[in-house]
Amino acid sequence: MPSQDNSKTITATANVRSGRPPDRENDDRYDPQRVEEKWFQRWQQNASLYAAEPDSTKKKYYVAEMLPYPSGALHMGHVRNYAIGDALARYMWMNGYNVLHPMGWDSFGLPAENAAIQNNMPPRQWTLGNIANMKAQMKRLGFAYDWSREVTTCFPEYYRWNQWFFLKFHEMGLAYRKKSKVNWCPKCCTVLANEQVVNGRCWRHEDTLVEQRELEQWFLRITKYTDELLRDLDKLGGWPEKVRTMQRNWIGRSEGTLVDFTLSDSGPAGAVGSTISVFTTRMDTIYGATSVQLAPQHPLIADLAAANADLRAKVDQLIAEQRKAREVGDIGEIEKHGVFTGRYAINPFNGEKVPIWVANYILMDYGTGAIMSVPAHDERDYEFAKKYNIDIRLVIVPIADDPEETVAEPPLPFTTMNGSLVNSGPFSGLACEDAIKKMSAYAEKNGFGKATVTYRLKDWGISRQRYWGTPIPMLYCEKDGIVPVPEKDLPILLPENMDSTLTGGSPLGRVPEFVNTTCPKCGGPARRETDTMDTFVDSSWYFYRYTDAHNDRAPFDREIAKYWFPIDQYIGGVEHAILHLIYSRFWTKAMRDLGLVKNDEPVARLFTQGMVTYQGAAMSKSRGNVVSPDEMVARFGADAARLYVLFAAPPDRDLDWQDSGIEGIQRFLSRVYRFVVRNKPSVETLLATSPPPSSGTPAAAASLPPQARAIQRKLHQTIKRVSDDFQGRWHFNTCVAAIMELVNVLYGAEDAIAKNSIPTPLLAEVQRDLVLLLAPFAPYLAHELWEMLGEKGSLLKAPWPKYDAALAKEEELEVPVQVNGKLRSLIVVPADSTEDFVVERALADEKIKSTIAGKQIVKKIYVPGKLLNIVVK
Ligand SMILES: [Zn+2]
Ligand SMILES: [Zn+2]
Repeated sequence: MPSQDNSKTITATANVRSGRPPDRENDDRYDPQRVEEKWFQRWQQNASLYAAEPDSTKKKYYVAEMLPYPSGALHMGHVRNYAIGDALARYMWMNGYNVLHPMGWDSFGLPAENAAIQNNMPPRQWTLGNIANMKAQMKRLGFAYDWSREVTTCFPEYYRWNQWFFLKFHEMGLAYRKKSKVNWCPKCCTVLANEQVVNGRCWRHEDTLVEQRELEQWFLRITKYTDELLRDLDKLGGWPEKVRTMQRNWIGRSEGTLVDFTLSDSGPAGAVGSTISVFTTRMDTIYGATSVQLAPQHPLIADLAAANADLRAKVDQLIAEQRKAREVGDIGEIEKHGVFTGRYAINPFNGEKVPIWVANYILMDYGTGAIMSVPAHDERDYEFAKKYNIDIRLVIVPIADDPEETVAEPPLPFTTMNGSLVNSGPFSGLACEDAIKKMSAYAEKNGFGKATVTYRLKDWGISRQRYWGTPIPMLYCEKDGIVPVPEKDLPILLPENMDSTLTGGSPLGRVPEFVNTTCPKCGGPARRETDTMDTFVDSSWYFYRYTDAHNDRAPFDREIAKYWFPIDQYIGGVEHAILHLIYSRFWTKAMRDLGLVKNDEPVARLFTQGMVTYQGAAMSKSRGNVVSPDEMVARFGADAARLYVLFAAPPDRDLDWQDSGIEGIQRFLSRVYRFVVRNKPSVETLLATSPPPSSGTPAAAASLPPQARAIQRKLHQTIKRVSDDFQGRWHFNTCVAAIMELVNVLYGAEDAIAKNSIPTPLLAEVQRDLVLLLAPFAPYLAHELWEMLGEKGSLLKAPWPKYDAALAKEEELEVPVQVNGKLRSLIVVPADSTEDFVVERALADEKIKSTIAGKQIVKKIYVPGKLLNIVVK
């Protein structure tokens, strides 16, 4: 191997041969813009570079990042999301898989429509412009997407299948129309799903309170799958536990009993609501119910307050308080207020009259909007009863250890289930669990109650009174009522070039050519549905479309989907844990019942990356703390930006952007480049080496001089660490750190390289493997160096380097340990152990411990690597 000075000559010679000027200085400096531009152009010319292979016999690997909303520009959170997915896709290609790595655009929806209005441009034009821009950014960042499968949800080729699904779901009874109280955002001028209401406000308008309105709406019957959605969470071992918990809570299953209390006398409007149905999980406490409490919006209140202006005013006050508490965000923390209605209800178990109250902490959208209040055995009821002087009656006492012993009255409220009933008529003496069963059965038998399971999950309201979405394929005929559009008439196209201003109901209702049509049943005039679908419909199944993106006879081919599904790895933000990820699980189950897919779940493994913040705060335009990917690419290169977001924090944690951090990454990439430029083996040397160096045929360890052996060991340790991280915990930050350590070891060996004491095959091997290790993280630089090393094959599918566990192992020594000059034990320590480490190990050795037990250490004499003598007295 030539010295550094000689290597200059060799490089120069090689350059002369390749026609480049022998300019050492220019060769040494890494210019990411030049290198990245060169490879960008080459990659652009090969449209099928990242295409999944059709009819492949290879094992498949489907990795997808959640498709973005085409807002106009990528932000660093996107870059992080895609850099993770891209590293994985490249790693799987190098491991010989048939990889599907697609990208698309969630391009319908309100923000596009609103932004288009603000920018005075049709939503379609605005959206397509944004897509073009973001796609260019993605390409410049070097993300390896199979663009031949691009899905754009606002194109009729895609949304016609939303309409097709809607018709199928309608046939199956999964899509239905009903009048209901809906969440209405006055700013969006549209209905929101429950999932889109955050603390009583619109998810898109943090400052806007959501109103309740009564409207005819289309719903998807997601509740048909409630139990399965809940049960199958147990199958999703590859999902973060926090996401499964969020879904479990959102589904909100609780077992209990519905019990009917009857109004004790008919009031002014006694015909309406003569019973009050309450839901309770503690049927065993019903003899302790000393009031019934209603949510302020309970339908009965209108009757009770009809002739009572004072009550009406007080209830309105409670509604205002409740709304205020929702604004603050925590209804659980509300200061509890209530008002007595002056009326009574009858407890069906003991015939007792109990007062009916209205309380601000009872929610209409939870359970039945009415509870029985049992102050002795519930915290909230206790607090409320104390405040308003309502009776408190003990009906559960702790179970005594000794049956003979009389039980003292427990401190109230006594809320555990570990008790038995008192003051409960024929049920006294039963244990709580047993009582719940018997009392529920009793209520059912007597027709005033039944055991039931309630869920928080409600059917999915998908009607939106907006323009920029999928038209719902339904007609209204005066004769035939609701008529589905025949399948052959799909797609129902969204009219273009229309005025989609905000006010006054559905914009489509103002387009007569759209609205007025003919009834397919009777041939008479009919009106089209003017609502469009919630944009979460689009994202519920888009990843199936990727598998067969140009199919015009079906949403996708079943056999192709069967090959690719479930998705092996899905990556996106945790904010989608409930909306998108519950809807798409529902959609998969409905498609399975339609016979389209075999899988029960769409996603085998889910990864949720952390946020990218700046100075501890989420990046946002209004805060002015946005780090622009374009600027980072222009200053440092795409590789540096990608490597930095992977290196700066474990991918599942939040990452606080540091400008100095990306500068450090840029220096590291330059170091790698410089090392390879200076030390790459000359073509002559490589040709003279037999067999040619390649991964998997490491130079024999035994024959290597110590420094060469150290390089070899570090190389194999690094390959092991990076490979293990891809398989396991995905701490790419430590992967990158490991590669940095390897590069440090190489720089430390430059003198040895100059003195020819590192064998050429090893040097070639370590440079080649270094490039392979960098390929998933910094593809531009890796491709440049790959070519520089004389490699002809594609780096994209070059085999991932293998490590040899024996070569990765630290060398070890046996050190004899003496006590007072007499050999007592042998300990095994790493070859480069310090004296302190050897002493620590010796003192932890069982034989040495017992030999020196009770004695005092006077002196320790260590002959490095040879002997440790411990002197005691
Ligand atoms: Zn809104
Ligand atoms: Zn008709």
